[in-house]
Amino acid sequence: MIDIEKCRITHYPDAVLAKRAQPVEKIDDNIRQLVEKMTDIMLKNKGIGLAAPQAGVPLRLFIISLDATSQNVRAYINPTVTPTSDEFDSVEEGCLSVPGIYTKIRRYKKCKVAATDLNGNEFTEEADGLYARCLQHESDHIDGITIADRMPSTAKIAHRKQLKRLTENYEKNKESKN
Ligand SMILES: [Zn+2]
Repeated sequence: MIDIEKCRITHYPDAVLAKRAQPVEKIDDNIRQLVEKMTDIMLKNKGIGLAAPQAGVPLRLFIISLDATSQNVRAYINPTVTPTSDEFDSVEEGCLSVPGIYTKIRRYKKCKVAATDLNGNEFTEEADGLYARCLQHESDHIDGITIADRMPSTAKIAHRKQLKRLTENYEKNKESKN
């Protein structure tokens, strides 16, 4: 049982963002409440995607709304994202869990997603452009990977101050909770 009240945005280098998330066993009211809470967090922070570990929950589930509106929020439960092209592009990305950092990330141009929706129906879709990028970004999250891991070492150097600040804030928050 997930305590929805306790769900909040998690920031790099929180441990929940670094581990492989577990499959959703059953789509029940608790999962539906989690999706609602994740939608609140995502829209409040003007994001276009959010994965469950970013709300502190290590489950294989993410939401996307490419125009950041509530009516276009979709849930992807136990998703599998597979590249459908050998071509890559490198576009600047941000992440609500790695605030203050925008950096070019290399991703496949096209991919497909197979997932289950909130009603328990399986679906598959082809994606390109921003949608393909967003799917790969969120899929990374449920495998314990953030843009802080994906960015090339030159970008790590360029963003070292902000990465250090995030690490310090995380340590500080951890201490104050103990
Ligand atoms: Zn992210």
